[in-house]
Amino acid sequence: MVTRRWSTRHPSPDPDAPKVVVIGGGFAGLNVVKRLANEPVRVTIVDQHNFHTFLPLLYQVATAGLEPTDVAYPIRTIFGQSRNVNFRHARASGVDVTHRVVTLERGDEIAFDHLVLAGGATAAFFGVPGAREHALPLYSLSDARRLRNHLLLALEDADTRSEATPVPLSFVVVGGGPTGVETAGALSELLDVCVRRDRLRIDREATRVILIDTAQRLLGTFPESASRYAAAQLKRKGVDVRLGEAVVSVDATGVTLRGGERINTTTVVWAAGVTALNTIADRVGIEPGPTGRVTVRSDLSVVGCTNIWAVGDGAAVIDGATGDVCAQLAPVAIQSGRHCAEQILNVITKRETTAFVYHDKGIMATIGRRSAVAKLHSGTVVKGTVGWMAWLALHLFYLIGFRNRIRVLINWTWRYFDWPSGPRLIIADAATEE
Ligand SMILES: Cc1cc2nc3c(=O)[nH]c(=O)nc-3n(C[C@H](O)[C@H](O)[C@H](O)COP(=O)(O)OP(=O)(O)OC[C@H]3O[C@@H](n4cnc5c(N)ncnc54)[C@H](O)[C@@H]3O)c2cc1C
Repeated sequence: MVTRRWSTRHPSPDPDAPKVVVIGGGFAGLNVVKRLANEPVRVTIVDQHNFHTFLPLLYQVATAGLEPTDVAYPIRTIFGQSRNVNFRHARASGVDVTHRVVTLERGDEIAFDHLVLAGGATAAFFGVPGAREHALPLYSLSDARRLRNHLLLALEDADTRSEATPVPLSFVVVGGGPTGVETAGALSELLDVCVRRDRLRIDREATRVILIDTAQRLLGTFPESASRYAAAQLKRKGVDVRLGEAVVSVDATGVTLRGGERINTTTVVWAAGVTALNTIADRVGIEPGPTGRVTVRSDLSVVGCTNIWAVGDGAAVIDGATGDVCAQLAPVAIQSGRHCAEQILNVITKRETTAFVYHDKGIMATIGRRSAVAKLHSGTVVKGTVGWMAWLALHLFYLIGFRNRIRVLINWTWRYFDWPSGPRLIIADAATEE
């Protein structure tokens, strides 16, 4: 009998093997499943999208630097060779902790022996009136596509209205963390390109990108020198950085600041923070922890539950070395995902579970072309072109899928030498795009 090599390496799972259900195919969920692939468990990974999204590059999709397909990768392709892994394209709507079943939005159920909550977080609007209705968040591929269409339509509309004299425009970005800084920098570069290369008739001198944050400095989790550098670089690009200011309401024609100032705009990018409230983590019937994140024990099991685990952005992951709650970052999601899988295997084989310890490799943010800041693990801050090259290399390394890496590398190299190129296509109507 001829046996195909992969079938001997990855035998069919034992029908009595424990069932592990993982909700979410983001950084955390993928890493849980990667570690459990080909182990003596039956894994079902559930995601509302049939692809993994590389969130750190969403802002480049939103500002027409990359295509949506460059930052997404099919989950089925990742686990196609793992006989013990099944993918379920569905949105999980609830968890019955007592009967150990996950309910899907369509009404069917999946039973589990172990459940991993890895559904991530979502945009936090902090109850600001009108923000949810009128601002544009950046937390999913649909958000990025919607924002890109919205930006390009706003520019085309301004061009149409500029028959006699070019009109000025305003774009507001709320939030001075990495996402806000990266988006504001890229948006300013997009405007330059649209005027210089595409000859859009907008008054570039009077067109403003306004970045607003309540904090007194940008990039609050970075050292102060990095914050100063980011602010200076953004100002050099013409971004109006407003610190210590708060947006108190958003409507269809603009935003109002705490002091009463009104900024007229039809584009408000919301990058003010994230919450796990109203996500699947919030539907397990457990009292939510800080910013709605699930409270977990040191081994990542959910407090008050047995065989339920939570990882990534949706969990208040504690670093066993410091006792601090980890930031909502990709490396935390990746490492907590791997650790959680190890703990599930420990429980199944009746071994002791161990505490999660975060290995901090540093943080980074880019402000635009040839300009980035990185805080290394040692605390050293790297800025400018060297920081930017490090940023490029790291993002390419973590991007899922060889083809995506090659495409993004070619795209970035091409754009480096021919700066104005980029996919500035309005593919769908911004109002109807989902
Ligand atoms: C715009 C942006 C830029 C960022 N930049 C950086 C950066 O530069 N560096 C960095 O370290 N971190 C960055 N982050 C943070 C980082 O991306 C997150 O920490 C990381 O993605 C968290 O991984 P996760 O798996 O917990 O959640 P996610 O990556 O959000 O994945 C959650 C998954 O769960 C699925 N899901 C959610 N609810 C359900 C449900 N009910 N049913 C089925 N599926 C569901 C979603 O579709 C998604 O695939 C950024 C985040 C954003 C939004």
